[in-house]
Amino acid sequence: MVDWKNPPKLFIPGPVHVLPEVLQQLARPTMGHRNKEYAQLHNETIAMLKQVLFTEQNVFLVTSSASGIWEASIRNCVSKDETVLACMCGAFSDKWGSVIKSCGRNMEPLKVEWGKPTTAELIDQKLATGKYAAVTIVYSETSTGMANPVYEISEMLKKKYPDVLVFVDAVSAMVGMPIHFDKLGWDVTFASVQKAFAIPPGFTVAAVSKRAIEKAKTVPERGYYFDFVDFVKNNEKDNTPTTPSIPHIVAVNYQASRLLKEGMENVWKRHKEMADYCRAWAKDRFALFCEEKYCTNTLTTVKNTRNIDIGALNKSLQANHNVIISNGYGDLKGVTFRIAHMGDHTMQDLKELLSWIDAEVK
Ligand SMILES: *Cc1c(COP(=O)(O)O)cnc(C)c1O
Repeated sequence: MVDWKNPPKLFIPGPVHVLPEVLQQLARPTMGHRNKEYAQLHNETIAMLKQVLFTEQNVFLVTSSASGIWEASIRNCVSKDETVLACMCGAFSDKWGSVIKSCGRNMEPLKVEWGKPTTAELIDQKLATGKYAAVTIVYSETSTGMANPVYEISEMLKKKYPDVLVFVDAVSAMVGMPIHFDKLGWDVTFASVQKAFAIPPGFTVAAVSKRAIEKAKTVPERGYYFDFVDFVKNNEKDNTPTTPSIPHIVAVNYQASRLLKEGMENVWKRHKEMADYCRAWAKDRFALFCEEKYCTNTLTTVKNTRNIDIGALNKSLQANHNVIISNGYGDLKGVTFRIAHMGDHTMQDLKELLSWIDAEVK
C-alpha cells in the first residue's frame, strides 16, 4: 500500500506540490455536466482563464494531459499536404516533432543543441523558403530548463510570416511566465495543470485562435475527441463535447481566481524572484546548464560540476527532510539536476530546500 500519511513534498518539474486547499477542491460533490450548475462553473472558469492568458479568443477545458494537444493542434489545423516546421531543442519539443509525423503530416526539424534557444533568426531562415504552413515551438523546455525567446520570435513571425500558424507548448511556462495570447498572435497554446497551475495531473487548459478554428473547418478527419470545432460549439453552450473531469475544473476555477487576485504581473514576478534566487545559488555552488538569459523561470537546471551522486542526494533529501528534486532528463541524467520553483512554491520553501541541499553536499 502507498503511504499516504507522509508523501514527500515535490520540487520536481511536474507534478508539483499541491496545496491542501486545492486538493479539497477536487473532493466536492459530483454534479451533472449537462446541468446549470456545471454551465456556470464552465462559463466562470473560461472567463477567468481568458484574463489569465490575455485573450478574447477561445479557451478550451480539455480532459487529457498536455500531450493530447500536441496531437490536436496538428490534426485540427494542418492538412495532409502541408508541412510543419518543428523547433526542437530538448526532449519535449523533440517529441512533438515525432507526434507531427505520427499524425501523418509532413514535418521538418529545426534542431539546436539541447539547452540552446531556437532564435527568431533561425526560424526566419527556415520560413524564408516559403514551404511551411505552421511552426511548433516550446516556450519552456522542461528537460533542459531553457526558455525560448518567444516574444521576439512572435514579433518576427507577425511581421514577416503572418500566414504561418503558430503552435506553442507552454506546459511549464503558463502562469509562471508571461503569455499575452492575442498580442503574440499565437494560434494554439496549452498547459497541463500539474505544472505551474499546481493542480494534480490529468487536465489541460488550451487557448485557440479564431483563425485556427477557421482553418480546422477546412481540415477533414480531425478526429473525434479533440475536435476543435466541436469544442467551440460546446463552449457556446457552456459545455464540453464529452464528460469533463469536473473535479479538475473546480480546481482550475479556484486557482484561476487566486491568480487573478494576486495579479498576473505579480505572479510572474514571484516566479522570476524564485528563479533568480535559485540561479544565484546554482552559480555559486555549481553552474547553470543554460545561458542565464535563456533560463526558464519555473525550474532551474543545475550543471553538476561537482559530480555529486544525484540519486544519493535525493534519497537523503527524502529521508531527512521529506522532499524530492529531479535528476537530469534522459542523457542529462547525472550531468544535471533540476529544481522546480513554480505554482504554489514560495521563496521560503525554496530557501529551505537549498539550505538542505547545502547541508547534504558539504
Ligand atoms: C510536462 C510537459 C509535457 C507533457 O505534458 P503531459 O501533461 O505529461 O502530457 C509537454 N511539454 C512540456 C514542455 C512539459 O513540461
